Amino acid sequence: MVGSFLNVLVARLPYEKSVLWPGSRCFSCFRPIRPLDNLPIVGYLRLRGRCRFCKAEFSARYLWVEVGTGLAFLGLFLWDVVFNVHGLPGARYEPVGGNTAPSAVGLAVFGYHAVLVSCLIAAAVIDAGHRIIPPAIPFTGALVGIVGGALMPWPWPHPAAEAVAPTAAAVAAGFTPAAPWSLSECWGRIPVGVQPWPFWGPLPAWLPAGSWKLGLVNGFLGALAGSLVVRWIKWLFETGFGREALGLGDADLLFLAGAFLGWQPAVLSLFAGAFAALLVFKLPAGVVGLFRGREFERELPFGPGLAVGVVATWLAWPWVGPRVQFVFLDLRMLAVVVGLVSVGMLAAGLLLRRKDDAPTPEPATR
Ligand SMILES: [Zn+2]
Repeated sequence: MVGSFLNVLVARLPYEKSVLWPGSRCFSCFRPIRPLDNLPIVGYLRLRGRCRFCKAEFSARYLWVEVGTGLAFLGLFLWDVVFNVHGLPGARYEPVGGNTAPSAVGLAVFGYHAVLVSCLIAAAVIDAGHRIIPPAIPFTGALVGIVGGALMPWPWPHPAAEAVAPTAAAVAAGFTPAAPWSLSECWGRIPVGVQPWPFWGPLPAWLPAGSWKLGLVNGFLGALAGSLVVRWIKWLFETGFGREALGLGDADLLFLAGAFLGWQPAVLSLFAGAFAALLVFKLPAGVVGLFRGREFERELPFGPGLAVGVVATWLAWPWVGPRVQFVFLDLRMLAVVVGLVSVGMLAAGLLLRRKDDAPTPEPATR
C-alpha cells in the first residue's frame, strides 16, 4: 500500500499536481480506477497492466515500485524487529512458534526507518525518470528524521553510560573519558544506536549522551553536512570539468539521509553512492560510451546510485564506523582527507574536460 502511494508521488509530484486529489484515474481516458483494480500488485497483474475501460497500457513502474517497496519493508522488518539489530527493549519477537506480538518500540523504529526508505525509493524513481528530485520528498522526510532523532538520541537504546567504553587496560593507564575519541583506545567502542553516531566525541557538557538536545543537534548537523558535501563536491568537480555534473536534488537527498543518520554516514554515503552509480548504473552505459566517445555528455541521474549508497552505508555502519573512526573524529586527519579529496575532485574534473569541447546545449538544470 505504501508502494502504491509512492507511485502516486512518482506520477504527480514532478508535475506539481496534488497527491491527494483527485483519486487514482486512468491517464488516458480519465475514468476513476475501481477500488479493487487499485489493489497493490494484484490489481496490476489481474488487468495485465492495462486500463479496464480503454485498455491503455500502464507503465511497468507501477508494478515494480509496489513489489520493491514491499520487499524493502520486509527486509527492514527483519532487520529492526525480528533480528533486532539495535537491541531494542521489549520481548523478543519470534514469529514462528514463539512470541508473535512485536514490541511497540520495535514497530516504532521500523516505522521511522520505513519513512527514510520510502523517501529514498520515491526520490530515486523520480530522479531516474525526470532528473529532478521534488524538494517536498527530502524535506518532509528530513523533518521526520530530525524529530525522531530527538526522540531516540544517540546512544539509545544503549544506556547513556555506555557512551564510549575504553578498554579496561586503557582506563588503568590513565585514559579519561574526555580524551579524543579518535584515539586507538576508543576505536570500535562507540555504540551504534538508532542514531548511529554522535556528531563528535568527547561530547560537550551541554549535549550529554542520551539527551534530546544531542539527538536534535545530531539530526540538524547531519542534514546540513549531507547537503554541504554534495554542494562542495559539485563546485570542485564542475570548476575542473567546466559544466554541470551533479544536481542540487542530490544535495537534498543527502540532507534527508543526514537528518536520519548523522553527518558521518551521510558524507560517506556520497562516496558509496558514486561507487554504486558507477558500478550498477553507469558502468554498462560507460562501456558503450567508451566506444562511441560521447558518453559523458549525457547527464545520467545520480539519485538512484546515491539512494543505494545511503542504504549500504547505513546498514554496514556497525562494521564500517569503527574503521573510519580515526578519520571522522580527528580534526587533523579530517583536514588531510578533505584536502586530498578536494584536489582529487578538481583534478578529475580537469582530466575529464574535453579539449575539443564544442559548445553543446546545456542539459536541463534541476
Ligand atoms: Zn483508460
